[in-house]
Amino acid sequence: MTVPMEARDRLAFARALYDDVPLYDPKRSPVALDLTDNTNLWGMPPVAERTLRELPVARITRYPSLYAAELKEALAAFVGATPDRLVTGCGSDDILDSAMRAFGEPGSVVASSEPSFAMIPIFARMNGLQYVGITELPDHQPDIDALLATKPRILYLCSPNNPTGALLSRSAIERVVREAPGVVFLDEAYAEFAGVSAVDLAMQVDNLLVIRTMSKAFGLAGLRVGYAIGAPSLVRDVEKSRGPYKLNAMAEQVALAALRHDMAWVKAHVALAVTNRDRLAAALRDRGYAPLPSHANYLCVPLARAVEVGQALRAHGVAARPFPGLPHVGDALRISVGPWELLTQFLAAFDDATADVYGWAS
Ligand code: PMP
Repeated sequence: MTVPMEARDRLAFARALYDDVPLYDPKRSPVALDLTDNTNLWGMPPVAERTLRELPVARITRYPSLYAAELKEALAAFVGATPDRLVTGCGSDDILDSAMRAFGEPGSVVASSEPSFAMIPIFARMNGLQYVGITELPDHQPDIDALLATKPRILYLCSPNNPTGALLSRSAIERVVREAPGVVFLDEAYAEFAGVSAVDLAMQVDNLLVIRTMSKAFGLAGLRVGYAIGAPSLVRDVEKSRGPYKLNAMAEQVALAALRHDMAWVKAHVALAVTNRDRLAAALRDRGYAPLPSHANYLCVPLARAVEVGQALRAHGVAARPFPGLPHVGDALRISVGPWELLTQFLAAFDDATADVYGWAS
């Protein structure tokens, strides 16, 4: 029997749970100076750039390597792991998504401290999992008791955390790994800027997946290179869930070049980001604001009417990301850090925008 077309809801072609899955929309329209996504505003490393420009065509006409074995070796050497404990993906987004699919049975709980990376609830819903957000404590540390009390199949933490910039203590990470009933995802997208990592812990335990990316410190966001470190059985399951041939050949070659030849550039620019972040924080404090202490390449600044200030900034050619109503903070603006000339431009636009919104003379 055929079902008459008018009797069917076209939405019904998708799995029902997709009704609640929004498209990611961080409201990023083109603007002269974009400080919204915490990428590397100095550019990409030089040998990586040359490799991109000179890539032999044969790399593109053939399939890439199955599971990026060569890149795994280089990444393992960089983070102090072994290749059998590495998995790569199309950005750390892909790792997070594939890992949720690998470890979450339908309906099982994904718990995350909030606020944190906005894609976590979306990936959880996309994979038919139940997302539970637990508000962080006033000191911007996760409420570990409450997170564990949800008995999560997957417990997500981010350090340094996006958007606050707060670093998790090692003892908190160790406790979560010891007491969590399932897999712990520790998102270290910004670890290079903090100079600390729990990769060594992921080398010792069987339930910790440390997730990293080349989108931030390495300046390769457009190539989509993410990776994770965990016990061999964990990374194998993520690899099964992600599938073969996923990291494209160009991304693999450029990432390899960066890891083999550009580490001095990467380290120098991480150091510059940290210096400029602290300089920007001082400039904002001089203006009477109190940025949260940050261990990443961005600052989170509590700011009344941040959405309006964000709009006013856009009118002055600058984008920064407003976060309305953060717990224990209120409205805030997250500002990516880059070369000081750009931050000077930001400060000028910020003075104009706050004057527009609050009605002060600048
Ligand atoms: N985790 C965190 C905390 C992030 O801020 C981001 C990017 N905004 C990602 C993961 C995803 O990064 P990518 O997919 O580019 O590796």
